[in-house]
Amino acid sequence: MVGGMSAGQVVGPLLDLLLPAVCPACRAQPGPDVCAECHGLLPRLPASCPRCCAPGSEIPCPVCRGNGLAHIASARAGFAYTGTMKRLIGDAKAGARAATVQALAGMLPLPVDAVDAVVAVPPSPGRRPGPHLATACARHAAHRLGVPLIAPLHCVRHASEQHRLSRAERARNVVGLFRCQPGVPPSLLLVDDILTSGATASAAAAELHRAGARCIHASFLCRTPQPGDRPN
Ligand SMILES: [Zn+2]
Ligand SMILES: [Zn+2]
Repeated sequence: MVGGMSAGQVVGPLLDLLLPAVCPACRAQPGPDVCAECHGLLPRLPASCPRCCAPGSEIPCPVCRGNGLAHIASARAGFAYTGTMKRLIGDAKAGARAATVQALAGMLPLPVDAVDAVVAVPPSPGRRPGPHLATACARHAAHRLGVPLIAPLHCVRHASEQHRLSRAERARNVVGLFRCQPGVPPSLLLVDDILTSGATASAAAAELHRAGARCIHASFLCRTPQPGDRPN
């Protein structure tokens, strides 16, 4: 450990500086983005519900019955959290590899509707130093949409990662988790890396509504796999 950082957190960023840019998935083809071959192997989602990201195009969606995620107008996710995508996210988080974080950030799906600003689901207090994946995705999205990245939300306590918990534990895990400064723009894009039950994003969106938001769209890099996803 060096100043509270693990060897991976020190060495990862150094390797990014010293080595020629390579694809973060195969580490063989030129980078810094995921190469065409690896991109083709990523677990893309099939047609999904535009309100909750469940697989399928039935109307109304049999999972959310057209109600979507609470406090969220539309939701998009790019990939299933499995295979190469799961490995890349693990690398980005554990090793704090800036190049991997940037490559992933560029793959966030954008909302169909226009928004006034972009907000990331914020990190837990006391998080290890290094680039935060959801914030990097939000910054990249704000740049592509030509709107500001704002940070009115903060996380008031540490919460366990949702995808490691049962459904009942997830709901309890996010109660009172976020606070928001008042006076946010009316339409927002809320960004997170992994959609599990939607409880975290809904808790963040509820606070944004309390702070003045009127319409919140959500984008996730990926969501946990569900029956109906194409095999990968
Ligand atoms: Zn590759
Ligand atoms: Zn749905």
